[in-house]
This record gives sequence, C-alpha cells and structure tokens, in this order.
Amino acid sequence: MAQTSSIAENLERVRERIAQAAGRAGRRTEEITIVAISKTFPVEAIRAAHEARLRHFGENRVQEFDAKRTKLAGLDATWHFIGHLQSNKVRRAVHLFDRIDSVDSLELARKLDQAAAEEKKRLPVLIEIHLGNETTKSGVAEADLGALAEGFSLLPHLELRGLMAIPPYLDDPEQARPYFTKLRELRDDLSGRLGSALPVLSMGMSHDFEVAIEEGATEVRIGTGLFGKRS
Ligand SMILES: *Cc1c(COP(=O)(O)O)cnc(C)c1O
Repeated sequence: MAQTSSIAENLERVRERIAQAAGRAGRRTEEITIVAISKTFPVEAIRAAHEARLRHFGENRVQEFDAKRTKLAGLDATWHFIGHLQSNKVRRAVHLFDRIDSVDSLELARKLDQAAAEEKKRLPVLIEIHLGNETTKSGVAEADLGALAEGFSLLPHLELRGLMAIPPYLDDPEQARPYFTKLRELRDDLSGRLGSALPVLSMGMSHDFEVAIEEGATEVRIGTGLFGKRS
C-alpha cells in the first residue's frame, strides 16, 4: 500500500522536475497542473496526495471511482475521467466527474451533453486525439478533429477546454517530442479556427512529462511517478 510519506516525497521530486523542465522552456511552474492518476490505488493514497496539496485526480473506470467517491465525500478536488467511456456509463460519469478528458466522438459528446443537461451542469471536456499510438484505439483521428470540434457548437452543456493525447510509449522520451509538438500545433490551429482559447493541453505521463512541458503541456497526468507501480 502506498505510504503517505512516499507520496509526498515522490511529489516533491516530480515538482522539482517540472520546475526544471519549465525553466528550460522559459515557462512558469504555475502554468502546469499535476493531474494525479489514482486508478487502481485505494482512497488512502488519494487522501495522502490530497494532504500533500494535490487537487486534481484522474481515474479511468467509472465503476472503480464510484466505489471510491463515496469514501472521499467532502474532499475538495477536481475529478477527471481519462478513460474510454462506454455509452451505458455516461450518465454516471457525468454525475461523478468534474471533467471528461477523453471525448473522442460526436456520438459520445452528444450523450455527455444530454447527461449534463439532466444534471443541470455545464461540463468541461477535452477532446482526446489519436496520435498514432499502436497500443490504443482511443482518441479521434486527426482528420476528424475539425468536424468533432465544430459539433460542440450545438452542445450547450459542454465546454470544450482543450486537447489530450497519449503518444506511443517510447523508451527514450525525447522520441515522443514530435507527438507533443503535434498536439500543440493542432490545438493552436483549432483554437484559431473556432475563435476560442482552448487553454488546456493535457499531455505527458510519468516517463515523458518533462518533454511534454517543454512542448507546452498545461496538465501532466502522473500515476506511477506519484503512487508507485500499479499491480
Ligand atoms: C494510467 C494513465 C496515465 C498515468 O500513467 P503513468 O505512466 O502511471 O504516469 C496517464 N494518462 C492516462 C490516460 C492513463 O490511462
């Protein structure tokens, strides 16, 4: 089980590395938010991370988080859904999570919009883009991004905040750089096209977040780097 002290220590190291990467890129650390990916870890680990002042958490299974959420009542945090969302879980997800970071089809976006309307909330979301990662099918193809993003204009209960991607896992994180660059360019392009800011670029995980920050990440999604190995 994850120890409070080790999570705090891990966080300190992550923060140092974020500061160094930001420094190299001439960016301020305040521009970069850590989303702690707590999937598979117990609520105690989330509490420990929260005590260490983390306020953003990501989970990839609705059912798993449903069980945890009741034990986390009252905890002041923003809960991100980062996984593949099945149609029959959309309502529950909209109820449980504060942001959906993995919207990858207009069909899903429409269902989210409807569920958000029922919950009487405006739901912030990210579009997930598929950047040639062979190990996952999740994410909208680059060619379909424009049509998906334009579809949001008819979905008043969703607020498109930016883009997310999971590049291929490459042993040398430096090799992931072109993917991060690409995601930033797609965001800049789309932002211009839609005439809205799209401030969020969620990219970079435990093994490659420094490169992602150098390329403009505003959110890094860190799991093992904070909580240790997942079993
Ligand atoms: C699990 C996961 C992460 C965290 O990965 P680590 O390598 O443990 O940091 C980040 N993003 C997504 C979408 C994930 O599913």
